[in-house]
Amino acid sequence: MSSIAPRQTRSVVADAPKILPDAGVENYVSHVLKTTKPLPPVTFDTLLSEINWIAVAVLTIPPAISIFGAYTTKLRWETGLFAVLYYFYTGLGITAGYHRLWAHRSYNASKFMQYFLAIAGAGAVQGPIKWWARGHRAHHRYTDTELDPYNAHEGFWYSHVGWMLLKPRRKPGSADVSDLSKDEVVRWQHKNYLPLIIIAAVVVPSVIPWLLWGDLRGGYVYAAFVRLCFVQHSTFCVNSLAHWLGEASFDDKHTPKDHVVTALCTLGEGYHNFHHQFPMDYRNAIKWYQYDPTKWFIWVSQQLGLASHLKVFPDNEVRKGQLTMQLKRLRETQESLVWPSDNNDLPVISWDAFVEQSATRPLIIISGFIHDVAAFVEEHPGGAHWIVRYIGKDATTAFFGGVYDHSNAAHNLLAMKRVGVLHGGVRLAVDDKAIPPAQRLKIARYAELSGSSAYSDQDEGEGLMG
Ligand SMILES: [Zn+2]
Ligand SMILES: [Zn+2]
Repeated sequence: MSSIAPRQTRSVVADAPKILPDAGVENYVSHVLKTTKPLPPVTFDTLLSEINWIAVAVLTIPPAISIFGAYTTKLRWETGLFAVLYYFYTGLGITAGYHRLWAHRSYNASKFMQYFLAIAGAGAVQGPIKWWARGHRAHHRYTDTELDPYNAHEGFWYSHVGWMLLKPRRKPGSADVSDLSKDEVVRWQHKNYLPLIIIAAVVVPSVIPWLLWGDLRGGYVYAAFVRLCFVQHSTFCVNSLAHWLGEASFDDKHTPKDHVVTALCTLGEGYHNFHHQFPMDYRNAIKWYQYDPTKWFIWVSQQLGLASHLKVFPDNEVRKGQLTMQLKRLRETQESLVWPSDNNDLPVISWDAFVEQSATRPLIIISGFIHDVAAFVEEHPGGAHWIVRYIGKDATTAFFGGVYDHSNAAHNLLAMKRVGVLHGGVRLAVDDKAIPPAQRLKIARYAELSGSSAYSDQDEGEGLMG
């Protein structure tokens, strides 16, 4: 990379996976991709040694037990209801705990609530908090690149489960989790992870239905294993479905999307475009009617004194993103329409030439533009005779109220019939009548604005911040 100073290059290469993006490095991701080698592609011969057997077991044994169990075990309504509640509890362990509390630090939680969520998260069997949050922070930082562990550009199934099944070809990009290394609850969960998952994922959901209504087998099948499959794939949908279905309401630079269906599948993590723009916000859904039970849970916890410092991005900044996307869509509409010629691409005609040509062609002047109305004479709603009367003449006053005060639509249509501009006749800046209503407000790119001389000012040493 030519833009890197030699001294920086040495340090960057030596510490490539650990360093933070640096002003001297043009693009950190492409630099890491250039300077670190991926593992060789998986081949038929290497397949067995490249499979992540723990992940394969976690992702295949529970579905197998669930399917066999569901065929052979009667579902009691009490157990069904409990399984759904336990799904919400362990799901919130991931969404309110792993994700919004530990990965993003979007609020503070009391010690009690932290343990409550760490146990719940263990019941979802998705790895310990630190490992999960480290991957997730890399996902946010390197979204849609090869340093993103669940890179959505690798396809729906890769981002859903594929990334776990084979050993990754590259390490996820660097992400700082030093705060979590020091965290008492995170360390406790890490140290006791295996007993915690056995207790939270299997023992508790089996024993509660057994003790309360004598349904040990139902608890084991439905509240432990069927529930586990649902809660796991619910989380996986945040990496797959939320990067695939819906619209980019705040920014379309990357794949995250907003969709109510994803929100329903993921306890409210479906407003993922918003989330990638404002990851420190404790909300995913910003409207009260959007489905975000994780947000409601955090808010209620705050009311109960269990959570505090809920982070919310300033509404003013949130709305800027929304406006940008709305303007982009409007610009697309604007560019899809046909607009009239303006005085830069029309021939300038003298008054005498206009009068002369009007003898053989139905030409009318309005607001300094010469219009050929041949195709319109018979269709004029006010009658052909009004047009014929003004051929070879200036009908500006008549058009704008002298005879009839025409509608905006009529003015827009008139402008499409421009064929020339009268010499000295158009005064764009002073005369609104020269600009059709549909063009008085328009979406312009920054570079198209007349005031975009900021760059040249900077070149001359002016306009720089002090
Ligand atoms: Zn994402
Ligand atoms: Zn996130």
